[in-house]
Amino acid sequence: MRIDIISAVPEILTSPLKTSIIKRSLDKKLVEINIHNLHDYSSNKYKSVDDYQYGGGSGMVLQIEPIFNCIKKLKNEREYDDVIYMSPDGLKLSQSVCNKFSSKGNLIILCGHYKGVDQRVRDNLITKEISIGDYVLTGGEIPALIFIDSIVRLIPGVLNSEDSALTDSFQDNLLSHPIYSRPRKFKQWEVPEILFSGNHKKIDKWREDMIINLTKKKRPDLL
Ligand code: SAH
Repeated sequence: MRIDIISAVPEILTSPLKTSIIKRSLDKKLVEINIHNLHDYSSNKYKSVDDYQYGGGSGMVLQIEPIFNCIKKLKNEREYDDVIYMSPDGLKLSQSVCNKFSSKGNLIILCGHYKGVDQRVRDNLITKEISIGDYVLTGGEIPALIFIDSIVRLIPGVLNSEDSALTDSFQDNLLSHPIYSRPRKFKQWEVPEILFSGNHKKIDKWREDMIINLTKKKRPDLL
């Protein structure tokens, strides 16, 4: 998978992509992520990428020209499955949306800023719009990172044990079971006895029961 992120504030994106599991997936070449600074695609001498909105009103708008230039350059180099705009009014991100995007080849992700982007970008250059939830952030960079993290961890080979993603919450519309590690007893708090039984059938049954009980209790809407 190759992801090209277009951003007016690329500094926000760098550090999270340089650590832990995402970094490992980049090192292993399971995914390639390129960050494009929108200012590099501005044709004016100040390299500005935003302007006031027509009709008046507060908030600056990311202009169409640098966005068009960047997307055009990328599309000249290769084909893309989707050109995605992170937007609060887009399709709400869920595990099933993540699953779908994790098998894509090449993606462009555009991050908005200030008031957003010129509507003509959305009407003519964007193929999908994705929201991380019903709340508004200052820019699309953190939503893009959330989206990228959620899909990259599903690419085979990214997580050490592949089935670990399959047993996480929201796969199969269920939550995950509780997990424990050493020490067996901390202060007066003990790990459930069943996990030391050595009986994997029983342990699996206990985990399944926990999954159903927890989902019923915390997220009955999923059942
Ligand atoms: N005027 C817009 C909000 C702009 S927020 C509106 O009312 O809908 C600035 C940028 O942050 C947006 O262009 C978008 O790229 C990003 N953003 C903010 N909240 C988001 C969310 N919940 N999901 C995805 N992107 C979001």
